[in-house]
Amino acid sequence: MKIFIAAMAVFLLVACGQDQAPSATVDSQQQTPVKVAEEPSEAATQVEVSAQVDRFADIQVLSYEVPGFDQLSLQEKKLAYFLSQAALAGRDIFYDQNYQHNLRIRKLLSAVVSSYQGDRSSAEFTDLLDYAKRVWFANGIHHHYSADKMLPGFSQQALAEMVANSDQSLLPLGPGQTVEEFLAQLQAPVFDPATAARKIVLDADIDQLSASAVNFYRDVTAAEATEFYTNRLDEDPDRPVSWGLNSQLVKMDGELVERTWMVGGMYGAAIEQIVYWLNKAVTVAENDLQKAWLEKLVTYYQTGDLKDYDSYNIAWVADTDSRVDAVNGFTEVYDDPLAYRGSWESVVSIRDLEATRRISTIADQAQWFEDHAPIMDDHKKKDVVGISAKVITIVMEAGASSPSTPIGINLPNANWIRKEHGSKSVTLGNIMTAYEKASAASGLGDEFTYSEEEKERAKKYGELATLLHVDLHEVIGHASGQINEGVGTPKETLKTYSSTLDEARADLVALYFIMDPRLVELGLMPSLEVGKALYESDIRNGLQVQLRRIKPGDDLEQAHMRNRQLIASWVYEKGQPDNVVEKIVENGKTYYVIKDYDALRGLYGELLLEIQRIKSEGDYEAASALVETYGVKIDQATHQEVLDRVAPLNLAAYAGFIHPRYVPVEENGEIVDVLVEYQDDFVGQMLDYEKNHSFLPVEN
Ligand SMILES: [Zn+2]
Repeated sequence: MKIFIAAMAVFLLVACGQDQAPSATVDSQQQTPVKVAEEPSEAATQVEVSAQVDRFADIQVLSYEVPGFDQLSLQEKKLAYFLSQAALAGRDIFYDQNYQHNLRIRKLLSAVVSSYQGDRSSAEFTDLLDYAKRVWFANGIHHHYSADKMLPGFSQQALAEMVANSDQSLLPLGPGQTVEEFLAQLQAPVFDPATAARKIVLDADIDQLSASAVNFYRDVTAAEATEFYTNRLDEDPDRPVSWGLNSQLVKMDGELVERTWMVGGMYGAAIEQIVYWLNKAVTVAENDLQKAWLEKLVTYYQTGDLKDYDSYNIAWVADTDSRVDAVNGFTEVYDDPLAYRGSWESVVSIRDLEATRRISTIADQAQWFEDHAPIMDDHKKKDVVGISAKVITIVMEAGASSPSTPIGINLPNANWIRKEHGSKSVTLGNIMTAYEKASAASGLGDEFTYSEEEKERAKKYGELATLLHVDLHEVIGHASGQINEGVGTPKETLKTYSSTLDEARADLVALYFIMDPRLVELGLMPSLEVGKALYESDIRNGLQVQLRRIKPGDDLEQAHMRNRQLIASWVYEKGQPDNVVEKIVENGKTYYVIKDYDALRGLYGELLLEIQRIKSEGDYEAASALVETYGVKIDQATHQEVLDRVAPLNLAAYAGFIHPRYVPVEENGEIVDVLVEYQDDFVGQMLDYEKNHSFLPVEN
């Protein structure tokens, strides 16, 4: 499964296995396990370099850095390069899976964008470019998140005129097909709102397959498909095969037939390219375990046998030491209304050594943190073990992982493999950093920051503050504390309030210790200024900034949002007699300014003590009072002020990523180095991929 950012682009999330919030599922894809997970801050950092490379519709395109790539050995660089090529080789597959006309439409748009000779500043061309960007971002004509069909701003006639002024040899015409016939074929798919209106429809009252535009089934009803797989027997019922994962199901002469996605089968032209690069990767594998899963992946693509897919996954989870890693295949089933067929994707990564070092330093000190936590001794664990987390640096993504990306990955999906062989769970570190930079560059934090000193501190220490906040929350926060004997689990005792309070508890552990000199002694941060930066962003976020994501009149529902407001409003109220946090109104704008950081730390400690007590004793009444008083209701005037101040910033609702180019340096036919070239042109990258990494015909 994948952990996604739920709705808004520019805030940071971190994977967190045990406390997912069900309130943020995508309404169009109810079965999607969209994880909201952790969101430590909205705008902790103020970074001058903007990561944004494009902005259109409700989308922001960002770039990310690949720290550590230059330090890889030549062998590792080659491996990462070959796996990146294997990733790009498959991107056409996902377009075709999403809708049968997507490749035709994409190639038409690419042809016009790259070769139109008319007025490129005209309204028609501007509209076409905007539509092309949206199609590229969504890997097809349906919005990547809402799944609704996106309609172009130009007319059918305008399209015909632009095509007439473009290089028509670039059009993917069928045999004997004229340009007019080609455009007529695409009239309904592009312009008719009723044709392929939604990519995926889950309404059980209608036939989901005929109502969904996805290209996983042809002339098959949901009932027929379900029956087809219900009758599949598993030789070993404890180890079920992922039936249907790698094929299209079609009706031929009245019979249901699977068209398997494999070498020599459907999508064979792209899969052969993938296999070509995977075989090159085999030659530079870091170790035998890695070599084994690479070879098994090739075998699976060659046989199309899902038992080979299981063997590959088992080998893949065993490889935990390699520096370079990859996911490549038909993986997640969110896009199939019946959840059988896997969307193709690839994620290539290297291990983030810096984050790994930081997290293990903290995890090694888990008992020290537990002993020094401001909670009652009875509520402390005697032998606490920090939760270790793995962080990866993304090198390349393609298919269902790009441009929109998950921020956490937990694979494989087969439950029996997870149980018997384990799984890999990772956070995408450089992607999160890029989100954070974009958030800072958006001006969101500045708008609510009162003094230059605070802005300066955020700029200097905000990024590290966020990283440490996440680490402390995850590694120490959730692991800390124990429940009194005879008291049930928080889900039983605190019921609906349990996740909000556990998020609050984990946040408070982070807030309490980020101001502890121990972190400086451990070399995790240069000074307590980092803690101040976190306090400032936390107050800002909890009392104001996060409200931008809520519709007027709504309450806070999501556990992380509730916990942040709970903490910030509680410490603000309790600190009022001593003016710990001062409310300042200037030119109609409200600011919250911290006057006493030590006192604030004390208040965080007090609240942590109380919330741990509530959890340890299972005190439902207190839990309810605390959450309902501080974490649910929004002050309407404050909310309106936030919305008014955020509106001019024109923030995008969704974000995705452009990728670096990896350029092999050759001497006498041998690769002697691989260079990273960062890109800043979304359109340019899409046209480059069209030209150099497109292997499928438009009809598959
Ligand atoms: Zn958490």
